[in-house]
Amino acid sequence: MTAERFDIVVIGAGIAGASVAAELAGAGHILLAEAEDFPGYHATGRSAAFREECYGGPDVVPLTLASGSYLEKGGFLTPRGGLYVAREGQGDELDAFYRQFCAAGVTMERLDRAALEARLPGIRPGWDYALHQPNCADIDVAALHEHYLAKARSGGVELRTGHRLSAAERDGAGWRLDFGSRGEVLAGVVVNAAGAWADHVACMCGANPLGITPLRRTVMQLRIDPSPPADLPLVLDLSGDFYFRPDGGKLWLSPHDETPSEPCDAAPEEMDVALAIDRFEKVVDWRIEAVERKWAGLRSFSPDRLPVYGFDPQVGDFFWFAGQGGYGIQTAPAGARLGAQLITGATRDEMTERLDVKLYTPARFAAVMA
Ligand SMILES: Cc1cc2nc3c(=O)[nH]c(=O)nc-3n(C[C@H](O)[C@H](O)[C@H](O)COP(=O)(O)OP(=O)(O)OC[C@H]3O[C@@H](n4cnc5c(N)ncnc54)[C@H](O)[C@@H]3O)c2cc1C
Repeated sequence: MTAERFDIVVIGAGIAGASVAAELAGAGHILLAEAEDFPGYHATGRSAAFREECYGGPDVVPLTLASGSYLEKGGFLTPRGGLYVAREGQGDELDAFYRQFCAAGVTMERLDRAALEARLPGIRPGWDYALHQPNCADIDVAALHEHYLAKARSGGVELRTGHRLSAAERDGAGWRLDFGSRGEVLAGVVVNAAGAWADHVACMCGANPLGITPLRRTVMQLRIDPSPPADLPLVLDLSGDFYFRPDGGKLWLSPHDETPSEPCDAAPEEMDVALAIDRFEKVVDWRIEAVERKWAGLRSFSPDRLPVYGFDPQVGDFFWFAGQGGYGIQTAPAGARLGAQLITGATRDEMTERLDVKLYTPARFAAVMA
């Protein structure tokens, strides 16, 4: 029996695969193949669901800013505000951070201790400075993911769950892709949106791995006394030791851990939960009544921690859409639009015209790939 033929097959239906498939819709016969029984099971379904404009560093800022109005107009954002808090003695570091990110286009204002206390009641002594970021917001991740899946489907993209790519080989001008018991398909272009498995998928397709490393991140939901005010901002440590934010009367807390992991169904470790609580208790005097829930997920980073969007320079018709790190939700609109434009050769538009493609091309790792 002849295998079914698609112009483009996207591997992975997390936010990366779903969004790029939605942006590609209409550009041919497209398959979105997901290994799990439902899309969003891995990193996408486990995020802390915020949009923070400094997150990921100055070269991620353009992607975050370019994505902002899509998220806002779509109704996916709820304003929250963000606070970077700093310890006594970190004033110069905070100033350098402020200057670096304001220059990158982020809106922030400096707060003194009195202004910090007003926004973060219960803050312990020793936390002397803060930066307030008014445009920080919660993201409705499930709604955004579903929006992209629906947009893809309505544009003719076929979503197949339970389809794990297990082997691939070049077949004439394209690819023969093996999904095990689910059969084979032919593809013109393969888009690698496999998250933590991106290097594995690359190896299957004969491309050199780029060193995309999954790092485990833990989040827990706490019941605290007093309950966090609903308008509490997202609070991040300037030194990167924790963040927390309210969610429906509870508090989500992370120790900002980054433990290297094999690609897997990540689970939280007790040590990281204990570490988070220890750090939290040094910031505010709120009493923790219970850890109600905890989870972990894998954030996948390229060697320079920037996303990888572009055709593999050595293996034809193999497109990288990976390494979205800890910002794959907040950068999804611009990342996906740019990815689709690079795949189809379409002209850049208002959302993407100011993005510097060289920052994200896989060719920047030429030495690794050689
Ligand atoms: C705890 C945590 C907190 C985070 N908080 C935020 C945040 O607040 N804001 C933000 O913007 N980002 C955040 N992130 C990052 C964000 O979640 C990720 O950048 C994003 O979800 C990555 O999307 P993805 O589609 O690349 O990966 P995934 O969602 O992991 O999707 C990859 C998919 O590929 C599939 N796949 C793998 N191999 C194959 C194969 N061989 N065949 C078929 N399918 C395959 C997998 O099953 C998976 O579903 C957070 C991440 C974590 C873990």
